[in-house]
Amino acid sequence: MSCAASVTLGAYILGAVGGEERRAIEEHLETCQTCKKDLLNLAPLPGLLSRVSVEDVTEPRPVPAVPRPRPRRRLRTWARRLALGFASLVMFAAGGLAGGLVTAGPGPTEPRPAHIVWTGADQAGRLQGSAALTPHAWGTEIGLRLRQARLRAECTMVVNARGGSRDVAGSWVITSYPAGEITVATSTRLRDIASLEIYTKAGQRLLRLTGDTRSPSITATHS
Ligand SMILES: [Zn+2]
Repeated sequence: MSCAASVTLGAYILGAVGGEERRAIEEHLETCQTCKKDLLNLAPLPGLLSRVSVEDVTEPRPVPAVPRPRPRRRLRTWARRLALGFASLVMFAAGGLAGGLVTAGPGPTEPRPAHIVWTGADQAGRLQGSAALTPHAWGTEIGLRLRQARLRAECTMVVNARGGSRDVAGSWVITSYPAGEITVATSTRLRDIASLEIYTKAGQRLLRLTGDTRSPSITATHS
């Protein structure tokens, strides 16, 4: 089984869609098991993207206008979409903070999950960050805001789970812009996340974000 809406998930997981489209995808995800499953499978892919070469994703291949089930070529198509998403991520800071995080109140059909916010800063004062964590049926959405000075780096977000396992939630480039926003995702449930860490490609830890996961507003959404 495949769902036509699943073609947007790659851009969604990379935070490359905004506004109305983003809201529409999230509403769709609440009801479509196929897309939920797809999203769960895709959650580690932003981190893997750094290992995809340009040749892997620029090979000429027609993209069908109407997606059909293509199990054999699925991953390559995804890689292309992810690469497109990645291209917009490099410019993520250009959008500034105008886009806003997904913090909408209850929608027309069912309550939207609330988010909690964790913050952190590096010791050198070059980088400050806050992460809005939103629980979903498929895992956790992480809306990251960064403020930084004189820093340009390729970064990876690592999700540390309470059980000790680690999951790469996304990779992107911090540009020379003073502030930026990015959305990444992990299949780790919010209650199981102990901390988030941002590393440079060279393995230097830039930031650690942590906080309370027992937000009253989260438990209140269960009805
Ligand atoms: Zn769907």
